[in-house]
Amino acid sequence: MASKARSPNTSKSTARSVLVVAAHPDDEVLGCGGAIARLADEGAAVHVIFIADGVGARGTARPDAKVLKLRRKAAQKACAILGAASVIFGDLPDNRLDTVALLDVIKQVENRLGAVKPDLVLTHHAGDLNIDHRKIHDAVVTACRPQKSQSVRTLLFFEVPSSTEWQVPGAGQPFEPNWFIDISTTLDRKLAALEAYGMEMRAWPHPRSVEAVTHLARWRGATVGADAAEAFVLGRTIA
Ligand SMILES: [Zn+2]
Repeated sequence: MASKARSPNTSKSTARSVLVVAAHPDDEVLGCGGAIARLADEGAAVHVIFIADGVGARGTARPDAKVLKLRRKAAQKACAILGAASVIFGDLPDNRLDTVALLDVIKQVENRLGAVKPDLVLTHHAGDLNIDHRKIHDAVVTACRPQKSQSVRTLLFFEVPSSTEWQVPGAGQPFEPNWFIDISTTLDRKLAALEAYGMEMRAWPHPRSVEAVTHLARWRGATVGADAAEAFVLGRTIA
């Protein structure tokens, strides 16, 4: 059964389907890279969609084609290391999603939901400092509204170092995790996937350094008696 579920020919009908909705390439690894690898190990087809291009706002208004290509290449490499089944790139403006109609973001999410029919969706936390993260959170919650035709049974919100913990009290919901995924067996792959994003990583003690990501994984693990974990806030689950 397990080996059958991993076969590309049968995964569509037998494997669990999971969708990760991330704003920028690297958010998926920082937020739930260990979980992606573990779910893939367990036979799930994990699909990743990036909504913003991840490049545009850093300098010129239009994304530099060369930089964009490099970032996408890095994302493909990172997602391959984690064992993701598919990677899709959106092209909404980076760090400017507040200039896009929420409906346009919702449509992108709904299209992907319709294509891969996930039972589990992982996305950004509502209280993040980054405007794209907040907008995507709202879009995903709306796209996953629990109607009869909805495939999504569980909705989880992840934390992204250098955004979630950089919010200040009163300006956004605090991140209070109540769902943990043990990533003791996949932390090494999370870190290897982060290496693919070398240009996005920073030196310790920046939260987006390999050391900080490791410390966080260890602390989230220690919180629940595991060697390493990723923490989430449960949005909704339907049993
Ligand atoms: Zn981001």
